[in-house]
Amino acid sequence: MSSRTSTPTVPILLYHSVSDSPSSFIAPFTVSPDTFARHLDAVAASGATTLTVSGLRAALDGHQPLPQQPVLVTFDDGFLDTLAVAAPLLAERGMSMTAYVTTGVVGGTSPGGDPMLSWSQTIELAASGAEIGGHSHTHPELDTLPVTALREETAGCRARLQDGTGLPIDSFAYPFGYSDPRVRRVVQDAGFTSACSVKNALSAPHDPPFGISRLMVMSTTGDDDVKSWLSGNGAPVGRDDERVLTRGWRAWRRFRNRVHPMAGWADAR
Ligand SMILES: [Zn+2]
Repeated sequence: MSSRTSTPTVPILLYHSVSDSPSSFIAPFTVSPDTFARHLDAVAASGATTLTVSGLRAALDGHQPLPQQPVLVTFDDGFLDTLAVAAPLLAERGMSMTAYVTTGVVGGTSPGGDPMLSWSQTIELAASGAEIGGHSHTHPELDTLPVTALREETAGCRARLQDGTGLPIDSFAYPFGYSDPRVRRVVQDAGFTSACSVKNALSAPHDPPFGISRLMVMSTTGDDDVKSWLSGNGAPVGRDDERVLTRGWRAWRRFRNRVHPMAGWADAR
């Protein structure tokens, strides 16, 4: 295993659900509470310091010190277990998280029936120290949308989160990690100051603020994968989404979305 290079890398872990009983809809993207606790213990053992996404951006912009070894824990979609299961395990260890909430399912369920955060629970999550960010209103593949719908999914999502929580909402996460230059511009115009992709890459200080790399933790992710990422290995350092998103693939998704707008959420990545 090679040692940490002189280029600092920032592992940004992306979780969805932490549960022993997920629906089949989200099961491939779920880890058990025991697994999640082991990951956090690995973070603690590595000597890393957790930051929120806006905390990382503030540090990179020179507004606060950047810890020697930063690591970020992020959650997408707004599952109830982000508050009920993950938040206490983080709090026990004095660790922070950023939770990206899909506003259209607040107080409801996922397509698989998993309970999602209500507004009061989202406020409770923020009170526990989590940063709350936007993850669109209906979880579409944003790069396939006309601009009016794109604004509704970004500025509309931010307004709903601000109204529903009374909190500043500064960061966004693209559903499925999908974005393109037009999407990134509209997210910026909506007033967000950062946005996370997926990319399955380690982040680095040169990551663009609207294309922050994350590493998706899946049910099949091993403890050794997480430990490797924490040591700055086991994944590439920040890469461009366009490498994996060909125009043909995007056209196919555009077509599929016309047929069944919610079809894509099951392929979350
Ligand atoms: Zn999502």
